Amino acid sequence: MPAKSMDELVSLCKRRGFIFQAADIYGGSQGLYDYGPLGVELKNNLKAAWWRAMVYERDDVEGLDTTLLTNRRVLQYSGHEDTFSDPMVDCRQCKNRWRADLVAGKCPACGSGDLTEPRPFNLMFRTAFGPVDDGTSHVYLRPETAQGIFTNFKNVMDSTSRRLPFGIAQMGKAFRNEITPRNFIFRVREFEQMELEFFVEPGEDEEWHRRWLEARLDWWAEQGVSREALSVYDVPADELAHYSKATYDIMYPFPHGLEELEGIANRLDFDLGSHSKNQDELDLTARVGSNADSNARLAVRNPETGNWFVPYVIEPSAGVDRGVLAVMNEAYRQEELDNGSTRTVLGFKPHLAPVKAAVLPLKRNHEGIVAKARAVKQELQALGLGRILYEHTGNIGKGYRRHDEVGTPMCITVDFQTIEQDDTVTVRNRDTMAQERVPVPELGEFVRGRLSLD
Ligand code: ATP
Repeated sequence: MPAKSMDELVSLCKRRGFIFQAADIYGGSQGLYDYGPLGVELKNNLKAAWWRAMVYERDDVEGLDTTLLTNRRVLQYSGHEDTFSDPMVDCRQCKNRWRADLVAGKCPACGSGDLTEPRPFNLMFRTAFGPVDDGTSHVYLRPETAQGIFTNFKNVMDSTSRRLPFGIAQMGKAFRNEITPRNFIFRVREFEQMELEFFVEPGEDEEWHRRWLEARLDWWAEQGVSREALSVYDVPADELAHYSKATYDIMYPFPHGLEELEGIANRLDFDLGSHSKNQDELDLTARVGSNADSNARLAVRNPETGNWFVPYVIEPSAGVDRGVLAVMNEAYRQEELDNGSTRTVLGFKPHLAPVKAAVLPLKRNHEGIVAKARAVKQELQALGLGRILYEHTGNIGKGYRRHDEVGTPMCITVDFQTIEQDDTVTVRNRDTMAQERVPVPELGEFVRGRLSLD
C-alpha cells in the first residue's frame, strides 16, 4: 500500500532524516534537496545495487566516472546548446515564467491572459572557466552523464580491448535549470542519473533494445518496485527525439501521477557520429551536425571486411532521485495493530535499508548491558553488511516503532538475560514484529541470513 499523498512522504523524509530542502534555514532553494543521514544510505544502496547489476554481474560492461564541468564543444556537438530547451512564456502582469506546455492561455499564478509568445529557454547551467570571464571561455555543468561516456568511447575501447556488443556505465550528478521544478525530488535542478550506453552492431539494435527493457524492469522489481506497478510507454514516432529510432519509457505511478522513472532509447549512431571527425566517410544513419573540431573517429572496424562503422547505442537512463521516491513509495505502509494503534513501516528490501540492524541496550545506564551492546554492534559492523546502529534511547518500544518507520529490518536488544544468564539477545523482526532469542555467537550468521532474504 503506497503512500496516500506526496505530503505523507515529504513529512516522513524530513522527520526521520531522509531528505531536507536545501538551504532551508534561508528559506530554501527551489528544486534543490539535500539527503540526510538515512537518505544518503538509501541512495548509496540503490546506486550500489545498480552498479552491481550493470557492471559486476555482467561481463560486457565497464564503468566510468567523468567530470561534471563539461567542455563547451562536447555540448555543442551533442546538440544540447541548440536543442536542450523548453519553450517558455512570461506573464506580463506578475512577471512569472512558465513552461509553455503547462499554461492553457492563462497565467497559473495570477490568471492573466497577457502572456508573451513562447521562447526557448536553455536548461543548461553555464559557468566561467578560468580567471577571466570574458563570455567566451565558459563550461557547462553536465545536463546528463551520457556525454562523458561518448567522449571516452575510444579511450575505453583502446584500454580494455572490448569488442561489440559492450557497454559503459556511469552514475552521478546532472544539472538542469528546470523552469518549474516540483513534486519533491521528482523534478529537481540537481539530481543523479544512472546511465548505461550499450554499443551494438547496426541490425542488432532492436533485439538489444527489447532485452534491456526486460532487464531494467526486472531490476526495478528487485528493488521492490514490482512489475505490476510499472507500465511501459512506447513513445510514438511524432514524440521521439530526432536522434531516436525508438524509446520505451518506464512509467511509475508516483504520488502526484503516472510519470517517467527511466527512459530506454535506441539512439542509433547519433552520439558517436556527432562527436567524430570525417563524418562523410562513416556512412551514418542519424542526421548529425558537421563536426569541425573532433580529432577522433569514434568507430570500430568490421573484422571481416575491414570497413569502419559507427556502433548504434541503446541507452537505459534512470534517475536516482526518482528511483528513491519510487522505492520509498512502494515500501510505505500503514498497519492497524490489534491494540487499535497504527504503525508506519517502510518495508525496504534488506539491501536497500539505510540501517541493517539497530542494537538497543535495555537499560542505557547499566554498564554491563551497555558494554555488551557496544560489543555486539562492533562485531556485526565488522561483517561489512552495511550500517549497524548502536542506539541507547532507553525506550525499547519507541525504538522499535522508529526503526519500523525508517525500514530497519531488525532490532537487537541486549538485556539482563544476555549478560547474566545465557548470552542470547532478542531479535525483533520489522515485518512480522515477532521476537526470538538468538545466541550471540550465532548472531552474525543469523543477521547475514536475514539480510540476504530479498
Ligand atoms: P522528463 O521528460 O521527465 O523531463 P527527460 O525525458 O528529460 O525527463 P531524460 O533526459 O531521459 O529525462 O533523463 C533520464 C532520466 O533522468 C529520467 O528518466 C529521470 O529519471 C531523470 N531526470 C531527468 N530530469 C530530471 C529532473 N529534473 N529531476 C530528477 N530526475 C530527472
